[in-house]
Amino acid sequence: MRSVITRLELPLAVLILAGGLSHEYGWPVASAVVLGAAGVRFVLGATRLGPGTLRLSPAVVHGALTGAAATIVLDQVHALLDLPDIVRLWPEGDGGLQHTLIVGAIAVAAGVLGGVRGIKLIGVAHLRTFWRHHEILTYVVTAAGVLFGGLVAGVVLGLLAALAVSVYRLTHCTVTVAPCEDAGWRVTVRGTLVFLGVGRLLRELRAVPPGSAVTLELHVDFLDHAAFEALRTWREEQEQLGGRVMVEEVHDSWYQRAGARHPLLRKTLPGPPRRFLAPWGSWARASRDPITTGVAEFQRRGAELVRPYLMDLADGQQPEQFFITCADSRVVPNVITMSGPGDLFCVRNVGNLVPQHGIDPSIGAAIEFAVKLGVTSIAVCGHSDCGAMKATLSGKQLGGHLGQWLRHVTPSVRLFRETRAWPESASVKGHEWLGRMNVLQQLAHLRTYPAVAEAIAAGRLRLHGLYFDIGAAKVSRVCPDTGKLVEVPAS
Ligand SMILES: [Zn+2]
Repeated sequence: MRSVITRLELPLAVLILAGGLSHEYGWPVASAVVLGAAGVRFVLGATRLGPGTLRLSPAVVHGALTGAAATIVLDQVHALLDLPDIVRLWPEGDGGLQHTLIVGAIAVAAGVLGGVRGIKLIGVAHLRTFWRHHEILTYVVTAAGVLFGGLVAGVVLGLLAALAVSVYRLTHCTVTVAPCEDAGWRVTVRGTLVFLGVGRLLRELRAVPPGSAVTLELHVDFLDHAAFEALRTWREEQEQLGGRVMVEEVHDSWYQRAGARHPLLRKTLPGPPRRFLAPWGSWARASRDPITTGVAEFQRRGAELVRPYLMDLADGQQPEQFFITCADSRVVPNVITMSGPGDLFCVRNVGNLVPQHGIDPSIGAAIEFAVKLGVTSIAVCGHSDCGAMKATLSGKQLGGHLGQWLRHVTPSVRLFRETRAWPESASVKGHEWLGRMNVLQQLAHLRTYPAVAEAIAAGRLRLHGLYFDIGAAKVSRVCPDTGKLVEVPAS
């Protein structure tokens, strides 16, 4: 759209208008206007304000140009229609016929050139662009305004049309009402809910039978007071008639905040639905069986988002990363690495342990498979408040498989004792320090696997020691020389 200025269309439009001015005020005035336009263009170019002027709306700028062009085309058509009169009225004298022919030719050429230039200015490509961007109304209103009311009237009308379109877009919401698969009704509201949309919202809500069970699902980035009152009143009416309305706020908590009289001032930014990162406790607390509630929610909302990626992965995986971490429920590998399907090949066990080569076939198989898949790095990720580390340091004798498994922490405990004198260790609780040393120890164990050692030697594989601080939601690297947690550098 910057081309509007750079392609001289603004000065050209003024030139066209000047053509009209010269009729009324003579060429001196028209020339001054043209020079003024050139000056404006120079200032816009020198101050780099050219693109800024387009914030008016390209549809208005182009609509004004089109209106001006249409005006000149109509003028030229009119002039051509008047040509016989001009020729007839030309004074007779020496070479009267010759004069008549010259004047006629000039008038025809001017008419054709002006018409062609005007039609070029209208530009079919621009029409298509505005149609695609749903700006055609603004464009047409501006052009018609310039044609029938003059430049100022056309631009003002165009700006009003652009404003109306923007208000409609910013305040538009969609409302769908549908019966649920099991029982009751589901009303889904998406968009911005303000007083302008309340009438339509209430009309849509009439489709819900009075007194029925309703889930009101809100995906709204703004809810003003009028809309909140309308929803609350409708909810109360439903419940007075014996119905039940459950409000599910997916995008944000506008309804809840308005109910608590703490509404926000501005729209909230769009982002992933909160519940995709939130624990069940924050939204499925009432469910007696959260796993089925969660699966149903995935099928209803999550599946459609992730399906395009999964379709590409349907016939094979090629993960970049082998991620070994604890089975702790608070460590969610895909969340803390912002990764998705196909990214992480994972092994999780109590204490994120990697016994040395030849001891545990389960871990050994996963390592060999990951290297075969071509992972370029392996991360061992420990975490704060690890139950396995605490249990190990407590000295309690644990029986069963848990006791057997935690014997694999023994090498880490040795490293823990050796490094307890490191300066960093003084400010770190015992089990947290063991957690960090445990990460470093597992990296050493990884190198005992021939497949890993070979890939590292060939430069195909790197190892990372990570540590996740749960309370701070922070992932750091464990420095192998000092035991310090260091920031993971942005690549
Ligand atoms: Zn743990």
